[in-house]
Amino acid sequence: LFKIPRNPPPTLRHPGNWCRGYSHFIAQCLIKDFEKRPSVTHLLEHPFIKQAHSKVMTLQAQLYKKRTPPYTLRRKTPKEHMVESCPDDDLVNLEVLDEESIIAHLQKRYADIQIYTYVGDILIALNPFQNLNIYSPQFSTLYHGVRRSSNPPHIFATADAAYQGMVTFSKDQCIIISGESGAGKTESAHLIVQHLTFLGKANNRMLREKILQVNPLVEAFGNACTAINDNSSRFGKYLEMKFSPTGAVMGAKISEYLLEKSRVIKQAPAEKNFHIFYYIYAGLYHQNQLPEFRLPEKIPPRYIDNENGKVMQDIITNKVYKDQFKAIQHCFRIIGFTEEEVNSVYRILAAILNTGNIEFASITSQHQADKSEVPNAEALHNAADLLSIGAEELQEALTSHCVVTRGETIIRTNTVAKAADVRDAMSKALYGRLFSWIVNRINSLLQPDKNICTPESGMNVGILDIFGFENFQKNSFEQLCINIANEQIQFYFNQHIFALEQVEYQNEEIDASLVEYEDNRPILDMFLQKPMGLLSLLDEESRFPQATDQTLVDKFEDNLRYKYFWRPKRVELCFGIQHYAGKVLYNAEGFLEKNRDTLPADIMVVLRMSENKLLQQLFSSPLTKTGNLATSRARITAASKSLPPQLGAGRNKVDTMEIMHHPEETTNMRRQTVASYFRYSLMDLLSKMVVGTPHFVRCIKPNDDRQALKFSRERVLIQLRYTGILETVNIRRQGYSHRILFEEFVRRYYYLAFRAHQMPATTKENCIAILEKARLDKWVLGKTKVFLKYYHIEQLNLLLREVI
Ligand code: ADP
Ligand code: MG
Repeated sequence: LFKIPRNPPPTLRHPGNWCRGYSHFIAQCLIKDFEKRPSVTHLLEHPFIKQAHSKVMTLQAQLYKKRTPPYTLRRKTPKEHMVESCPDDDLVNLEVLDEESIIAHLQKRYADIQIYTYVGDILIALNPFQNLNIYSPQFSTLYHGVRRSSNPPHIFATADAAYQGMVTFSKDQCIIISGESGAGKTESAHLIVQHLTFLGKANNRMLREKILQVNPLVEAFGNACTAINDNSSRFGKYLEMKFSPTGAVMGAKISEYLLEKSRVIKQAPAEKNFHIFYYIYAGLYHQNQLPEFRLPEKIPPRYIDNENGKVMQDIITNKVYKDQFKAIQHCFRIIGFTEEEVNSVYRILAAILNTGNIEFASITSQHQADKSEVPNAEALHNAADLLSIGAEELQEALTSHCVVTRGETIIRTNTVAKAADVRDAMSKALYGRLFSWIVNRINSLLQPDKNICTPESGMNVGILDIFGFENFQKNSFEQLCINIANEQIQFYFNQHIFALEQVEYQNEEIDASLVEYEDNRPILDMFLQKPMGLLSLLDEESRFPQATDQTLVDKFEDNLRYKYFWRPKRVELCFGIQHYAGKVLYNAEGFLEKNRDTLPADIMVVLRMSENKLLQQLFSSPLTKTGNLATSRARITAASKSLPPQLGAGRNKVDTMEIMHHPEETTNMRRQTVASYFRYSLMDLLSKMVVGTPHFVRCIKPNDDRQALKFSRERVLIQLRYTGILETVNIRRQGYSHRILFEEFVRRYYYLAFRAHQMPATTKENCIAILEKARLDKWVLGKTKVFLKYYHIEQLNLLLREVI
């Protein structure tokens, strides 16, 4: 039945484009094929085909729920084949295109549990807040390699489009998932990975298993329960899946952005610390290993106790934690972490919890008025033991610091408050570095095997799942960074959908009524411009030791002359920003400290001296020299003598782009702020994204109560407005989403109008010949490119499949 041509065109060269042993999938292909070939329609009566077809029907009926299944065995006319099977599935096909009708349409679909809807090639995903049984491998099969309009909209269809795009054109793809916190981004990202691993079936089953464990593992460390979402991602994640030239999955790589480290030491009311702390606590409790890890059985450590001790009961009784601990152990093992490594990870986590319990009291002596000591040494000893460092040295590094003045090293004692700050800075640094280490380790374990496949560009699918826009009662530095990242992603979306399209029309001298859209570039400039953007001002202020959060806000007010910035009267330390997604009021309290994010050099030295290999690795740096705290302090004195005076403590000149080590890394020479590291990561992310063909998934939260089937028109409308979906509908309807150079077009599609073995000249006339032969309408020719509507490509590919 399948005659494979001896020299297939590029679209079909890859086995991934052929059927793969799944009867109902084969049936689906065959049925479509038979319908178009009267000579073989009798085969539709074949029992095998009939049986497989009924399977397809059942699956589809499940998707359409209340709707009548769209497929019958009746032969379709060629014209019918050209139209979308179900115009409801795409907002672009709506007769009336105003806000009201779009909302009504989505609402009706949501009531029918149709959570997915297209806007041209963009996918809208409404959070169902209930488990739907539409993600099994059977559904992966159903969506594999078929025309998009054959099935209802689905996240698998988007993943499939990315995969097919990569395989067919050897071009990197990226899937950008956006939406508010709790809208369903992370779930969508999982489903995409699931479908891509299904498509890129590696011969190596282990590898597939490994890739599927990456998300759960990283999320145990990077996600937490917040007021909005029980599994809220507290970091941004870009997961690249790497494929071989034939489309088999070969490896993966994650990049992480902006982990919310402050959560380790403190959580807002009704929120929790990162999941992993509860998982290991429960797991170790049930394995009677709490004493081994120096964790108390009755009174929970301060860092995870947000509810006056109640958490302990929860940890002991909640089966989810216990199961998750098992799951995490499984992830570690499958991905390839050694026992020793996993044990070190647990020890460091337990050490962080013990560190949080170290308390300080002030002692007054004759000479030193505000010296602090550790009255109850248990937590200190526990932490030091777990970290394999000396307890005395740790205490020393927590309660004192050295300053260099005029070539003299003076050891100064820390006040109680200062000592507590150092302690918390140490915990944050430990956790942040541990997280990065886990990510890097995963990356090295999942690196494609260089012997089999040289890593090449063009065969990657990247999936961006970044924290959504946030607007809380109180918004701090973390929210500012998150919202700037979202502002940047929105800009990329706008660029892609609107701006570039307009420029291209103009270049190609095509008349297109320009679609108005909300350009957020000026807001982005306000944040990122140098030297007068908000982040630069923040960095500048962070370099002054005398600066306060108040002087920072004053500086913003004096320098940011934008209509997007304002300062509410009578509220100190507050400033407002008009983001693309709405107004947010920020409180600048702690901004400078959070931006500096310094870890005292003494703490670094102590941690580097650990006998724990993992810990050494976390704190090693090219600048490291071995030695103990005393010799290190002596060395600092020596180094300071060779520095010019203006580079004394506190006013170090920061060269942002030069060294991108961890922000909290402090050397006497250079200091990296969180803002500049953030700016760098954002650029790094964009540079990865822009090389790929983008696919957008817009997640929408239908209500704030996490209730299934509840649709709040106001909430949805706001999200549709600021994500630009309403404008997108317009431009998609009028616009041409595919622009292909004449040459490329002829190369891809000449089979439709010319003899297979002879590629004709790549002229405009030949393009017209192909387009006419394919009987497409509404295409336009520019000066160098063919402009096609998004559905033309499907039609062309379908025809191509027929002729071959
Ligand atoms: P985000 O990453 O956007 O903050 P999540 O992906 O964590 O949001 O989704 C929040 C919650 O919504 C999930 O924990 C899950 O309960 C529910 N959810 C989201 N998408 C789906 C889906 N496709 N099917 C079932 N439940 C979902
Ligand atoms: Mg998430």
